[in-house]
Amino acid sequence: MTKLGFPSISIVDDGAPADSTDEHAPVPLKSAGNGTATEGRGNHSKVLIVGSGPAGLTAAIYAARANLEPIVIGGYAPGGQLMITSDVENFPGFPEGIQGPELMQKFREQAERFGTRFVDVDAERVDFSARPFRVWADKVEYTGQSVIVATGASALWLGLDNETRLRGRGVSACATCDGFFFRGKKVAVVGGGDTALEEATFLTRFASEVVLLHRRDRFRGSKIMQERALNHPKISVRWNTEVADVLGAEKVEGLRLRDTVAGGEQEEPMEGLFVAIGYKPNTDIFRESLEIDDMGYLVITDETRTKIDGVFIAGDVHDHRYRQAVTAAADGCKAAIDAERWLEAQGIAEASTATAW
Ligand code: NAP
Repeated sequence: MTKLGFPSISIVDDGAPADSTDEHAPVPLKSAGNGTATEGRGNHSKVLIVGSGPAGLTAAIYAARANLEPIVIGGYAPGGQLMITSDVENFPGFPEGIQGPELMQKFREQAERFGTRFVDVDAERVDFSARPFRVWADKVEYTGQSVIVATGASALWLGLDNETRLRGRGVSACATCDGFFFRGKKVAVVGGGDTALEEATFLTRFASEVVLLHRRDRFRGSKIMQERALNHPKISVRWNTEVADVLGAEKVEGLRLRDTVAGGEQEEPMEGLFVAIGYKPNTDIFRESLEIDDMGYLVITDETRTKIDGVFIAGDVHDHRYRQAVTAAADGCKAAIDAERWLEAQGIAEASTATAW
């Protein structure tokens, strides 16, 4: 990832394999040398973790410290959404901030230090109908006495070439992460749901002007959030408007806007673009096995549990409310402790060590 002096952060994880020619593609994470799960210990683990963002890797750190020898099936683009995030300034413990990929590298090294092994391919199929649970990745079968699902969610993007090119240079999908960098600037937010309304309202803390762009003539977000945004003196709304292009050589300098009713286009100077058109939780392979709510997120019971005993959930794959690295990490910790206690109750794990400092 190149960063050309523009401090914005972008978030994306479309689940696609990384393309090495794409500067926004996640940087491969270095391994301390544990190799793949097909070496040494075989393909069986007491805890199989699917996903390698903050939730999956925190679960791995806790599970590994509890001698559960976890295997992480981390995906072709391991590390999750932070891998294409530049400055992270809100993760505790890094007062100067840290680059997203560097943070995930540290997570990974910490997990490896205690014996986690990584398989950097996508999980493509699961069978949770009997124990041990089974997960297939790159056609290899892995089994686990327990499973932690931490596959995250991906921000949806408009799909414009220049939107992709300028991610991290004025284009973002996370106001909480990046709003700070837009102090005194004029920014646009695309979308008409609660996320867009919330992001726009949040951005008024920093931006001089927030322009909400919505493709229709009414919002779909909740009444209260609409009122909050519509009554805010810094927010203006452009109805029936979509983004035709993002302008700027090295950072966002403007937008070409299209009238969705009349059809005309016009350019408008803008220093930031926040895309807030929704998220897609990465749940496709769990559709047959786990409960999914009407927004597409996995359903939890009792913090991290699922309807299947021994299968636990952590992070953005169930959490559409907070969606922060630190909350995902906390979730990973909870899932690992719950998995360890469950394994202990089954007589599979020894007495608890996961929470020992
Ligand atoms: P959403 O409700 O699906 O809204 C997405 C918005 O983006 C819609 O207005 C949609 O336009 C627009 N959109 C979609 N694709 C687009 C495209 N290609 N170009 C331009 N606009 C596009 O998603 P969300 O806002 O992320 O909310 C998801 C769920 O989370 C909702 O149930 C919401 O209530 C909840 N949520 C709650 C809170 C809260 O309570 N604090 C905060 C955030 C989200 P159309 O309207 O024309 O379809």
